Amino acid sequence: MKKNILLIHTGGTISMEFDTKTGGVILSATNPLALEIDNIQKFANITEVEAFNLPSPHITPERMLELKALITEKMDYSPFDGVVITHGTDTLEETAYFLELTTDYTIPIVLTGAMRSSNEIGSDGVYNLMSAVRVAAADDANGKGVLVVLNDEIHTATNVTKTHSSSVSTFQSPQFGPIGIVTKAAIHFHHAPLSRTYLPIEKISKKVAMFKVYAGMEADLLTTISALGYDGVVLEGLGQGNVPPNLATGIRGLLTEGLPVILVSRCFNGIAQDIYAYEGGGKMLKDMGVRFENGLSGQKARLKLLLELCSE
Ligand code: ASP
Repeated sequence: MKKNILLIHTGGTISMEFDTKTGGVILSATNPLALEIDNIQKFANITEVEAFNLPSPHITPERMLELKALITEKMDYSPFDGVVITHGTDTLEETAYFLELTTDYTIPIVLTGAMRSSNEIGSDGVYNLMSAVRVAAADDANGKGVLVVLNDEIHTATNVTKTHSSSVSTFQSPQFGPIGIVTKAAIHFHHAPLSRTYLPIEKISKKVAMFKVYAGMEADLLTTISALGYDGVVLEGLGQGNVPPNLATGIRGLLTEGLPVILVSRCFNGIAQDIYAYEGGGKMLKDMGVRFENGLSGQKARLKLLLELCSE
């Protein structure tokens, strides 16, 4: 029997078109994906909602929370078998991870997007949307958390990241790879996530800053954040989780004020650990009270800390 899928549009290149006069990619007045809906209905009964029509750099945590509320409202009214969300690719991984942490549905929530706008040659929007609907309608997608489907691959919201500014194979899960693939004939999963964190929140009431750590970094910017009203900070540290000595002094100051300091590695692969005991080394930072958020990128660790603070 055909599954019932809720399809929510939020904007992004998948809903945009190339303007031949100006040479720019622009928002379309009518969503070009709407023209394809009959083809997509072959795979599931689709209920469409236009939530926003925004490029994804305009998406904020408040918008993500609206999206979560919309899903809850629709699910309460008529339980769907799956949800598909179209989204700009720039911040797609952040919205996906936000929904991973703030929802606890067993049904699949699948995000997709496109790297080429609707009227460009080789446009990947309709194909990715079709794949996302097929994944959301697959029995095996249940219980795997929030998923991201593009370019025939299925990734978890936790691990996926945009790795290339323009390639259609931009979405990758460094270290782990995709958890499944989409083929013409079927949806294949070969891995499943082991656990899931649930952080339900009502409102975005806190602010979290993030810095990428670099050689010779001073503590001056870091120490301004509490005066600016920030409630916590995420640092993308060096290597296994180290920072320059001057920064360690600033970190100590923030911890003394009671601000949480989270450390991840700025390396693309691997995790932050408390190995080095020198001034600014990971062992010293951990002893000081810095929390290591292993395996998350800076932007996801920032969202997680924000949600933890908002749910307190
Ligand atoms: N800049 C666009 C956005 O994120 C890129 C895309 O959608 O692929 O909205």
